[in-house]
Amino acid sequence: MSDVITGYYRPLTLDEALELAARADAVVLGGGTVVNAHPGRPRVVAVDLQALDLDGIAAEAGRLRLGATTRLQDVADSGLVPDVLRELARAEAPNTIRNAATVGGTIGAADPGSPLLTGLLACAATVAVARAGARAEHPLEAILDDRRLLDGSIITAVTVPVGGRAVAQGTARTPADSPIVMAVACRDADGAVRVAVSGVASRPVLVDPQRLAELDPPADFRGSASYRSHLAGVLVARALAGVGGSERA
Ligand SMILES: Cc1cc2nc3c(=O)[nH]c(=O)nc-3n(C[C@H](O)[C@H](O)[C@H](O)COP(=O)(O)OP(=O)(O)OC[C@H]3O[C@@H](n4cnc5c(N)ncnc54)[C@H](O)[C@@H]3O)c2cc1C
Repeated sequence: MSDVITGYYRPLTLDEALELAARADAVVLGGGTVVNAHPGRPRVVAVDLQALDLDGIAAEAGRLRLGATTRLQDVADSGLVPDVLRELARAEAPNTIRNAATVGGTIGAADPGSPLLTGLLACAATVAVARAGARAEHPLEAILDDRRLLDGSIITAVTVPVGGRAVAQGTARTPADSPIVMAVACRDADGAVRVAVSGVASRPVLVDPQRLAELDPPADFRGSASYRSHLAGVLVARALAGVGGSERA
């Protein structure tokens, strides 16, 4: 059966949007590049966030704040965003898609090969989530581990600590293609290192560099499980070397 959008709402306030998002048949619309391509449910009402003023990039209190409806192209172009996250936003998709796709939608879509999601995970991003009558902040990995945290909710912003150093290493079939496997290592201002890898699980994951042998990547036409495992080892080592260390994640 083909998917049917039975209603379209463009709320003007967050409270109004949250009331709509609580509906069982609601689909929150960021840039719509996934929702429109793969609507996912047979009959839905779309709750379009674009009038909520949730976009914008700001540096505040030692953290970088990316509003949920900030377009990926704006992330790639911003002088406030660390170079690695800019590169990863640019690597996300063609510019036609980047000019529509949003930061919140990238988290909502949780694409297993998403470069930006992998970078945000390594850089200890925190996700601000609103639902009717409640506000919460969750580590990005908690959202990726438990999608129910987004049920009836709207991501309003993502924040990452500034002052660290991150390095991304990926392998793709061509320079313009999305990586088969990507590793991002991030050393924070206190020296702690986190490493995230895409292309080795159903979503980007945090890894312990000493336990990469435990990964069980899915195979597809771009790479077998053993090839992806091998890539993960090589790319994690390179990313760690780039941030000046080989510590455990
Ligand atoms: C041609 C094409 C190429 C692509 N290439 C890539 C690629 O190379 N790499 C990659 O990772 N992805 C790619 N994508 C997938 C997609 O473009 C990205 O995942 C994009 O970042 C999604 O953002 P969006 O704002 O368009 O999401 P939407 O389609 O608006 O939403 C995606 C999901 O997130 C939810 N959502 C959106 N905003 C919020 C919010 N604020 N709060 C809560 N939930 C929300 C939606 O309900 C939906 O479930 C591609 C898509 C297309 C069509």
